[in-house]
Amino acid sequence: MHELGITRNIVAIVSEHAGENQVKRVLLEIGKLSAIMPDAIRFCFEVCSKDTPLENAELQINEVQGIAQCQACGAEFEIDQLFGRCGCGSNHIRCITGEEMKIKEMEIL
Ligand SMILES: [Zn+2]
Repeated sequence: MHELGITRNIVAIVSEHAGENQVKRVLLEIGKLSAIMPDAIRFCFEVCSKDTPLENAELQINEVQGIAQCQACGAEFEIDQLFGRCGCGSNHIRCITGEEMKIKEMEIL
């Protein structure tokens, strides 16, 4: 489960920013194409946040829809996987959003 390593990183980064302060809320953005399971992150967060400034913090996760742009005609459309075909027939598409995993916000008490 690679979510454990990812969650450890998140906790480490947020802890560093929080310093001695207690973290109240963390907002993550997880792309639907990133192969990261939000439920697994939530589960790992419970474990990883113990004895850190993030203990008992509220974890919010925004899932980001995958969007690709066709390199042939420029059209943008939603995708559920990294490979797809544009309405114009071209399969030369580039993913714009949906692969990211980032810490969007953190709230400190
Ligand atoms: Zn196209």
